[in-house]
Amino acid sequence: MSIRVIFLGTSAAVPTANRSLPAVLIQRGNEQIMFDCGEGVQRQMIRAKAGLHKKTKIFITHMHGDHILGLPGLLQTMALMDRTKPVDVYAPPGLARFLDCMHETLQFQLTFEVNVFEVTNSGTICDEEEYRVDANQSNHAITSFAYAFIEKPRAGRFYPEKAKAIGVPKGDAWGKLQHGQEYIFPATGQIVKPIDVAGPLRQGRKIVYTGDTRPFDGFAAFAADADLVIHEATFDDSLLERAKADGHSTPSEAATEAKASNAKSLVLTHVSARYSDTSLLLEQAKKIFANVVVAEDFFELELPLSE
Ligand SMILES: [Zn+2]
Ligand SMILES: [Zn+2]
Repeated sequence: MSIRVIFLGTSAAVPTANRSLPAVLIQRGNEQIMFDCGEGVQRQMIRAKAGLHKKTKIFITHMHGDHILGLPGLLQTMALMDRTKPVDVYAPPGLARFLDCMHETLQFQLTFEVNVFEVTNSGTICDEEEYRVDANQSNHAITSFAYAFIEKPRAGRFYPEKAKAIGVPKGDAWGKLQHGQEYIFPATGQIVKPIDVAGPLRQGRKIVYTGDTRPFDGFAAFAADADLVIHEATFDDSLLERAKADGHSTPSEAATEAKASNAKSLVLTHVSARYSDTSLLLEQAKKIFANVVVAEDFFELELPLSE
């Protein structure tokens, strides 16, 4: 199953002619996972041909308007399209009250459930069969969390010739072993372990999204060995003092974090409206971490399954 990451919005604080407000969409099978939900996100989804009816989870890093104001519009558009599947929203405290106010004052009816999970501590906040999402408190002007999407390891590659040689019957027994379970011969009680007929577990993919933040202690461990780190880089290196004052990062800082975490790739986003040309940001990051790009709206990348 391939993973497609789509940058729906890449601007900081205010939209520009070319950049919408922060939102990153991870598409995995029939499911969509969104990090942050900037204004106009539903139109960006329509332009990116991302479905509005798919199983969806939304993770909000913090309650600044540029990261959250897309949610009411998105939910309302979904309702007008008769969505029926629930939407799960994870966010720091305040989200439930924000949505209650919207419902009360705008009086729009939803056609589906919105399940709100308020994030108050670092740790695993969502645990599904094939993946989990961890939160880690970051360092911004208000309570803010970075998120890590982490796939669980998959069973190793199955070798039919090995199963045949041991005499494991085809069918259910093979299926069990392929899914990482033991098979026991009913007559003799002999146990066949997955490792007897398959290769080692295959690592899942890991994507880390910082939201707005200064570099913080513990990030390298949180993002360790990530396939992709999506790091904010609001200001270029020459505006370090401004970045410090506002709780943001520079390209050099983002690149240093990616390097320290041994990430495979880095995408910079949440770009200040002052940069119509981002080559300076890229140049500064590249000096420290080679495999980096600065996202534009609708920039996409694929993360293939590891073998
Ligand atoms: Zn922001
Ligand atoms: Zn912010």
